[in-house]
Amino acid sequence: MAAEEMVNTLSTEDQESWIRIQDSLKAEYGEATYNSWLKNIDLKEVKNGHVTMTLPTKFLRDWVINNYANRIRQLWCLQNKEIQSIDIHVREIQPAKVEESSRAFVSPTTLVDGQGKTKLNGANGVQNHSEANGSLKSQLDPRFTFENFVVGKSNELAHAAARRVAEAKDNIPFNPLYIYGGVGLGKTHLMHAIGHAIAENSPQKKVLYLSAEKFMFRFISALRYKDTMNFKEQFRSVDVLMIDDVQFISGKESTQEEFFHTFNALVDQNHQIIISGDRSPTDLEGMEERMRSRLGWGLVADIHPTDYELRLGILQSKVEQGNISIDPHILEFLAHKITSNVRELEGALNRVLAYSELVGRAVTLESTQEVLRDLLRANDRRTTIEEIQKKVAEHFNIRMSDMHSARRARAVARPRQVAMYLAKQLTSRSLPEIGRKFGGRDHTTVMHAVRKIDELQVDDSSLAEDIDLLRRMLEN
Ligand code: ADP
Ligand code: MG
Repeated sequence: MAAEEMVNTLSTEDQESWIRIQDSLKAEYGEATYNSWLKNIDLKEVKNGHVTMTLPTKFLRDWVINNYANRIRQLWCLQNKEIQSIDIHVREIQPAKVEESSRAFVSPTTLVDGQGKTKLNGANGVQNHSEANGSLKSQLDPRFTFENFVVGKSNELAHAAARRVAEAKDNIPFNPLYIYGGVGLGKTHLMHAIGHAIAENSPQKKVLYLSAEKFMFRFISALRYKDTMNFKEQFRSVDVLMIDDVQFISGKESTQEEFFHTFNALVDQNHQIIISGDRSPTDLEGMEERMRSRLGWGLVADIHPTDYELRLGILQSKVEQGNISIDPHILEFLAHKITSNVRELEGALNRVLAYSELVGRAVTLESTQEVLRDLLRANDRRTTIEEIQKKVAEHFNIRMSDMHSARRARAVARPRQVAMYLAKQLTSRSLPEIGRKFGGRDHTTVMHAVRKIDELQVDDSSLAEDIDLLRRMLEN
């Protein structure tokens, strides 16, 4: 009854907005994060410019408020201009429908007292206990296998390293394996593939895959339920530990500390660790120095942005797997145009196919352009200063942080000037804006860099080639 009443106060429009917002959240934060934190948010009421949503526990509520509320509010405002504010409450539960034991867990009043301490004990405590540590099972996506992973220049090192780790019997080839690269380039896919392969080849091995965010969640829960011993034991008893998106625990000191100990314990026992991050260990800001150095101990493999051939290969493989017939020119068009990442590329293909199925006509270039108008425009405008800095830093083998640093040594100053030059050429940013992105430099510095690089190129053909190559990569 109560649930029905709740739904009735929501207009269809509000419900549709909410579905779109959930889709955006899923796309922005990824499936795993969405499932851990955001999936259980219920929309309760939209009234007088105020949105009320609910979550089942205070812990979840606090977490979502601290980490995601701003974005959720922005998304609401985009859907409906009248929205002024949002709020997330802890869900009232309906006693008649909820079993005694789970009610004790769900209800925030019995779970936590004023100081945030656990009050539960006895039989109910056991349930919290298992929840705190979870069953520590990896949830592997069945689609993310080595068979479904298309190898190209940009990911061949990471792929080969992943294979090596997955096929190792007792010897550990490198520890840890650290895979890094931008979003949607296949890091999670490779880690799941390792998990599947080990489960198949060495079923006796205990493999644990989880995101750094989940690791932290488990750790905090263990602290909360005073169950850190069990937590430690569970993590230290695995043969292969995979932690995805480690950058998430940057700046989270106690989680880092715990991770550091777990890491060392596993390395000492000669157990395999595989880590992914969105940047190299040395560039992980907010990560303790000793942790950064440990992360770089084994093999560090980066996944570069895709090139045209790989994008086309991935599309072809998807089409083959799905037994889909589509004009090859459409695939070429997509591989040319959607250059940001593989996730977006897959999404584009799916949208085009869904549309053609809906209207009952074969996919044409026109319908593709029509359906993907927004995406194509976004990809056109793609070149950002960060992208330029990253590419230039990679090309000249300097650190990304040197783009912002005050170091004047020629080896870093020249590439920095090249990046400023390309930023001026390839983006519509003003000189002061560009200066700000390079560690708050003055616009005259940028102007000087642009002139300097212009002049140098006349006589220095190797520099001119470098710049030409970078430009083509960035415009790609
Ligand atoms: P990341 O973890 O680096 O953000 P994911 O592993 O989640 O990226 O990859 C995003 C999507 O792109 C997934 O659906 C994945 O299957 C797909 N993908 C990425 N790289 C490849 C590849 N080389 N071959 C096939 N699919 C890929
Ligand atoms: Mg990922």
